[in-house]
Amino acid sequence: MKQNALFLVLALFISGTITVQAQEIIAHRGYWKTDGSAQNSITALMKADSIRAYGSEVDIWLSSDGIPMVNHDAHVTLNGEKLIVQDTPAATLRKVKLANGEIIPTVEEYLDAFTRCKHTKLIIEFKSHNSKEREDELAEKVIQMVRDRNLQDRVEYIAFGINFVQQVRKLDPKAPVFYLNGDLSPKVLATMKLSGFDYHFNVVYQKPDWVKEAHGLGQKVNVWTVNSPEDIQKIIDLKVDYITTDEPLLVRDILQKQ
Ligand code: MG
Repeated sequence: MKQNALFLVLALFISGTITVQAQEIIAHRGYWKTDGSAQNSITALMKADSIRAYGSEVDIWLSSDGIPMVNHDAHVTLNGEKLIVQDTPAATLRKVKLANGEIIPTVEEYLDAFTRCKHTKLIIEFKSHNSKEREDELAEKVIQMVRDRNLQDRVEYIAFGINFVQQVRKLDPKAPVFYLNGDLSPKVLATMKLSGFDYHFNVVYQKPDWVKEAHGLGQKVNVWTVNSPEDIQKIIDLKVDYITTDEPLLVRDILQKQ
């Protein structure tokens, strides 16, 4: 009897552990809600690694002179002037400081820092540009930079734009690539040979069946940007694979209580 009880406790413990591991945390724009950090800074990437997040997400653009740059918004503010990132040369963008005092990083610098990470993957989001040509140039340059550093197994890609996800699939047939825009079913994504969807939680609340459908097609499911305890619990219950959040430690706490 005693042995059976011990076995039961062990089984529960192991299955609980598996459940926790099955749902992974992605730090949205890195782990930035902490001392000395800032969204999309190199510090935020290193902090995401230090808390052993599954992934650290980052947003990227192509400068007007063809340098891949890290930034979320389509514009930056320099000396009170609004500059559109894709219409501004890298040297000017490099005068902009992030909230923690870091200079806006180039993607090369970001990847070089990433080679020092031990745990986290890098989730690269390609922002949508004015033309297909510029998007193709950005995808080609960045995928080559990842290859040059032998990081293919540690990098995943996401984009709202169909052109970007198709370019990634063409340039690196094995790379994990997820679509963000919320409008395509898992069946359609399967025809595009994508790894799965990465949709806003409201889309997933409206289409909960898409999670099962995606899993049935061998896809993974990521959901953004899940920050409140209520949403985190609802998304955990929907059995998604990845939770993208500005609150990685809170998500971890809630996952550990399951
Ligand atoms: Mg993003």
